[in-house]
Amino acid sequence: MFDNQAECSLVMRKRRIVILGSTGSIGTSALKVARDIPECMEVVGLAANSSVEALARQTRETGAKRIAIFDSSKKRELAELVGPHVDILTGEEGLYTLAQMDEADMVLISIIGTAGLRPALAAIQANKDLAIASKEILVMAGEIVMTAAARQGVKLIPVDSEHNAIYQCLQTNHRSPEQISRLILTASGGPFRTWPQEALAQVTLEQALKHPTWSMGKKITIDSATLFNKGLEMIEARWLFDVPMEKIDVVVHPQSIVHSMVEFVDGSIMAQMSTSDMCFPIQYAVTWPDRVANSLPSLNFAQLGSLYFEAPREEAFPALRLARLAGTTAGTMPAVLNAANEIAVDAFMHNRIGFTDIWDIVRQTMEAHTPVYPQGQLAPILQADAQARDQARQICCQIQSTRSH
Ligand code: MG
Repeated sequence: MFDNQAECSLVMRKRRIVILGSTGSIGTSALKVARDIPECMEVVGLAANSSVEALARQTRETGAKRIAIFDSSKKRELAELVGPHVDILTGEEGLYTLAQMDEADMVLISIIGTAGLRPALAAIQANKDLAIASKEILVMAGEIVMTAAARQGVKLIPVDSEHNAIYQCLQTNHRSPEQISRLILTASGGPFRTWPQEALAQVTLEQALKHPTWSMGKKITIDSATLFNKGLEMIEARWLFDVPMEKIDVVVHPQSIVHSMVEFVDGSIMAQMSTSDMCFPIQYAVTWPDRVANSLPSLNFAQLGSLYFEAPREEAFPALRLARLAGTTAGTMPAVLNAANEIAVDAFMHNRIGFTDIWDIVRQTMEAHTPVYPQGQLAPILQADAQARDQARQICCQIQSTRSH
């Protein structure tokens, strides 16, 4: 038997990772992975939005010599906490510099929403492999990101648990996307899976923030409750695996044990399973194509007894239909769906609109948009994104003023 250290040096060299969005839920899990397999993973750069104390703690723990704080007004405070030997960058520029630093092999993008798009493209430009946790990037500009990665010959490994599962299932020797008959994304169904449709309009923020199986950031937890998270994941899968939308299915699996499945044309289905802990997909992205022993809990099937599946309630939760429509329409429409959803979720989190309004705002914003096909250009996508945000904000205001009268 080899000990961990020997095992790692035998099969893989230590990967040097930059984490953009290190103080969020995924970033925190990534540091757990780094503590668990220190022989295989070294954190060389960290970036956070504004959480100075958490970033300083992480810097001390990892020994990272270069870090970034997006909010430049926090630089001095951060410098006092980490001392003079750490290089502190700020703003967008800081993210680009970290994404391209010589000392890194891989960049983990775990910034909330679409703010990670340009840093991701910068990392690809500098030939860094990417671990992508921010699905919004691929929803918005999947074609551009995938094309850029292919051109530079860098690997892009999804950290989203479903897509990481599919990525693992596809490590078999099938030779072309035509041999895949279906990607089957599993969904927990969220906290309102069994609620009557009429009751959904009364959902409170507190109720929506309680996810039954996964512990995650706020935005994604709301997205899981509306099923927009699964809708975004359908579009994300479309780009990551180059499979048309009609081959992407969703099945509700409240236990979150099977993280997703691939069905091949011969009818065989591969599934990836584990307990629901984001450390599994993060570690796989770091150690790919190798497997490394860790301290994560193993599954006890006898204790589990059974695995349970059911169809999603598309009538009560229209997010899946809207996402299928956006993904099939393609062009700028997925960016519009994503932007409208971000605005609507933010409004819901500030108690300005109701839970079911989120679907209405996304639907109305999509209806108002005429899709453009950007042919590899980022500008039309960014423009559609900005217009959709304005449109969605206006619809939020209309809803608010109707309610207050
Ligand atoms: Mg997911």
